[in-house]
Amino acid sequence: MNQMELLWDYQQTDIQAEAVAKEIKGSPERQKLVKYRDYLLEQQNTIKRIEEEVLTMQDRLEVLEDAVKLVEDQLNSLQKKIEANEPQDVEQTERYLNDAQRMMSNLSEYEAEIKRIRKDAADRDRLQYDVKVRAARAKAEFDKLKASYDEEYKKKNEELTALKNVLAEKAKAIQPNWIERYNTIRRHAFPPLARLNGSQCTGCNMSLPSGVVKDVQSGKDVECETCGRLLIV
Ligand SMILES: [Zn+2]
Repeated sequence: MNQMELLWDYQQTDIQAEAVAKEIKGSPERQKLVKYRDYLLEQQNTIKRIEEEVLTMQDRLEVLEDAVKLVEDQLNSLQKKIEANEPQDVEQTERYLNDAQRMMSNLSEYEAEIKRIRKDAADRDRLQYDVKVRAARAKAEFDKLKASYDEEYKKKNEELTALKNVLAEKAKAIQPNWIERYNTIRRHAFPPLARLNGSQCTGCNMSLPSGVVKDVQSGKDVECETCGRLLIV
């Protein structure tokens, strides 16, 4: 066998291996598994996002609680100040009142925000719980499917490994530059070798110019100008 015929023989095994690989990839169980896995990842991301949001809320709560303490202190010292020197005139009374009102208004703003954050945090706790329950259910389904898929995959994988071993064995008889060329074409056209049928490329069914056909017949290595496959008589 010349290099081209050896390569053709190599391609026959490659086609078988590709079919098995496709079967493995395309198995409905595997596709379901991928869906479950994606779903699980999504839930994990949601849980993480919620945790981060809750952390941010806790930070904000601490800031607000400090602010509340500060205003309470301010109110206390204002009260002491008023007790120590009672307002002498209307103006002074108004100043005290304004100060007190400003502080009270700050206080109620802070307290409203604290209330809002506590409610948001409680909502998130519930949401997180729901997500965790859903994720646990999906994980159980995933594990069950995985067990039966592994069983199925084991046989197919053995088949694929055996074919790959045959490929490696066949490749030994072929010059490396031919294997390299085969793999380069394989990236855009599979299978990479195409027989001539009259003047037609059997890879893409296009007719080839008679000059090209002659070149192939005389044993030159020529690629189909349409699909790029290596032509063989
Ligand atoms: Zn072609």
